Amino acid sequence: MRIARLNHAPELFFSLQGEGINAGAPATFLRLAGCNLHCAWCDSKHAWTNPISLPPCDLAKRLLSMPAKRIIITGGEPLLQADELADLLTLLPSDYMIEVETNGTILPPQQLLARVAQWNVSPKLPNAGNAPDSILTPVLTTFAALPNSWFKFVVTGENDWSDIAQLNLPPEKILLMPCAADRDSYRRLIPIVADICLAHHVRLSPRLHIELWDTRPGV
Ligand code: SF4
Repeated sequence: MRIARLNHAPELFFSLQGEGINAGAPATFLRLAGCNLHCAWCDSKHAWTNPISLPPCDLAKRLLSMPAKRIIITGGEPLLQADELADLLTLLPSDYMIEVETNGTILPPQQLLARVAQWNVSPKLPNAGNAPDSILTPVLTTFAALPNSWFKFVVTGENDWSDIAQLNLPPEKILLMPCAADRDSYRRLIPIVADICLAHHVRLSPRLHIELWDTRPGV
C-alpha cells in the first residue's frame, strides 16, 4: 500500500480524533498517499506524492502495536486504494473500530462497506478550487443512504451554505467546520461557522488538532 511519508517514515500516529462526530476520541491515524483532488487549502499536500510502500501484513502489524482500537484511515483519498485497504482490514480483529475519511468521489466496494464502522465524508465545495465535477452527487447520495455516514464541510463563510444546500443531504448528518490552517485563523472563523450552523440547524465540528497543536503535522 502507498502510505504518506512524514519525516522519512510512514505517517501513522496515535492522537485524538480532531473532527467530526467522534472528535476527542483517542485513535490511531493512518494516512494513505495519493489524492484525486487538489484542494487549494489542503493541509495534507505532502500525501499527494512521494509515498512509502508497505504490504498490508506489515501495516497490520504496525497498527496492532499502537495503543488504540479505533483506527482512522485518512489521506489523501483512501478509496484510491480500496482493494488493498480491504485486504488490510481483514487482518485486524473485528473489535477494531474503523473510520474512513473520504472526499466522497469514489464508491467503496462491498467488502469495505461491510467492515468500516463509520464513513466521514468530506465533499469539497467550490471554495477548494477543484474542477466543478469534483462533486459527484450519485456517490454522495449512496453515502447518505448508509446508516453510518456523516458529511463534514470545510467552510469559509455564509456564502458556502448555498453550495451545501444544493446537495440535498440529510441535515442531521451535516457538520460544518472552519477553513483554517492555523490556530489564529481557526479562532477567528469558528464563531462565524457556529452562526451558520445555528441559522441552518446543522452541527458544528471542531478541529481539535488545530486548536491544540496549531500547524504541527503528524498529530
Ligand atoms: S481531498 Fe483532502 S487530501 Fe485531497 S486535496 Fe482535498 S483536502 Fe487534500
